[in-house]
Amino acid sequence: MDHEGLRHWSKRAADWAADYHAGLRDRPVRAPLHPGAIARQLPDAPPDAPEPMETIWSDFESIVPDGMTHWQHPRFFAYFPANAAPASMLAEQLVNAMACNALIWQTSPAATEVEQVMVDWLRQAVGLPEGFVGTIHDSATNATLSAVLTMREKALEWRGLEEGLSGGPVLRFYASAETHSSVDKAIRVAGIGQRNLVKVATDSDRAMTGAALQAAIAADRAAGLQPAGVILCAGGTSVGAFDRIGECIAVARAEGLPTHVDAAWAGSAMICPEFRGLWAGIEGADSVVFNPHKWLGAQFDCSVQLLCDPGAQVRTLGLRPTYLETAGREEIVNFNEWTVPLGRRFRALKLWFVLRAYGLDGLRTRIRNHVAWAHEARDALAALPGVEIVTEPRLSLFSFALATDAATEALLQRINDDGRIYLTQTRVDGRFAIRVQVGSFDCSKEDVMLIATTVQEMLASCSSESFSSR
Ligand SMILES: *Cc1c(COP(=O)(O)O)cnc(C)c1O
Repeated sequence: MDHEGLRHWSKRAADWAADYHAGLRDRPVRAPLHPGAIARQLPDAPPDAPEPMETIWSDFESIVPDGMTHWQHPRFFAYFPANAAPASMLAEQLVNAMACNALIWQTSPAATEVEQVMVDWLRQAVGLPEGFVGTIHDSATNATLSAVLTMREKALEWRGLEEGLSGGPVLRFYASAETHSSVDKAIRVAGIGQRNLVKVATDSDRAMTGAALQAAIAADRAAGLQPAGVILCAGGTSVGAFDRIGECIAVARAEGLPTHVDAAWAGSAMICPEFRGLWAGIEGADSVVFNPHKWLGAQFDCSVQLLCDPGAQVRTLGLRPTYLETAGREEIVNFNEWTVPLGRRFRALKLWFVLRAYGLDGLRTRIRNHVAWAHEARDALAALPGVEIVTEPRLSLFSFALATDAATEALLQRINDDGRIYLTQTRVDGRFAIRVQVGSFDCSKEDVMLIATTVQEMLASCSSESFSSR
């Protein structure tokens, strides 16, 4: 296919995309398949001869869409959303056409400069003070890894980069059990070792408190270990837990320890001032990550890390030793020095399009609706006989269960086989619970209220035996 062919087919792709989105409500949210069902439809070996695009296209249409779990479905209430607002999809088409690699300023000046401005727009949007600057990663996982590597090197006074870790002090990091597994992964990959990630006990609200953090640090110091950093949870993946951000940052500062806050999901909600109390004290953090690719509509991948002083991270990840003194603050920024990978996509364009096409007000309205509808769905579910709310809504996330784990698991299976809505599970103090998060960019109140209707129907249509206690 040549570029004239691309002109033809990309118009067809645009029509396909619009039809696909318009028809999502008629599709089951989750792919109703068995493993291997798709792979079996593909030839074992690549073709030697070129194939006509018409054939490739028709195979795509017959094999792929039915094999997808539809993340843009308005009734996707599983995991967290990965929203692609139409304006974001449009920007990504343009980025695809230019297909740049924005590794340094020179290789794509517009990509770098739009990224700088968009990060600052987002800083303002979530209410962080002037002075925070940042970068866009592919994932919160990579942002957290960058933060952990930076905290490690700060603790080692930048010796780890040259000398490696063997023979060095035992470094200790602190987080609560509510933090995402990406924190464990970062600790492992950074050579800290899982056992040196202290899972600090949480209070009845599933929050790490300043006092608990203080006690954990003191115990380590008494044992001759070296505290190196604190990772705070602002909106946990399981039930939306928030650590006491301000308290914990105050303790970390008094102990001379840097902090990184994982707000991957909940950070987007902070464009609404009324939710900022949940992360009160955030302005004292050294590093904050949140994913516009979750709740804000700038499609995957787009994870923003805001840094109170980028110098330490650039010193850790950059390879330009002579620039250390003012690293990250020169007129020309080379963003590869802020992140682990060298190559980088032009991710800021979709933010530019999304923030302008909907405005902060449009985005706030969506998030406020999601939170309000989640509360209504919670009330409708709580009114059903046998249904118990396990965790109350945190923003737009809550969980519910039946009397036994077996009954709850059977219910979840039936809901997802039914296909009108998609929910996933978590464990709360060992109990199997069904998670509900409301956050799809295109969902309506009717879509959200279908959660309780579906659960009610599943409970009624099922013999009392399968949901009864063991
Ligand atoms: C989704 C999520 C992550 C991981 O995000 P990726 O961008 O997929 O790496 C980390 N932390 C929290 C709290 C999350 O919700």
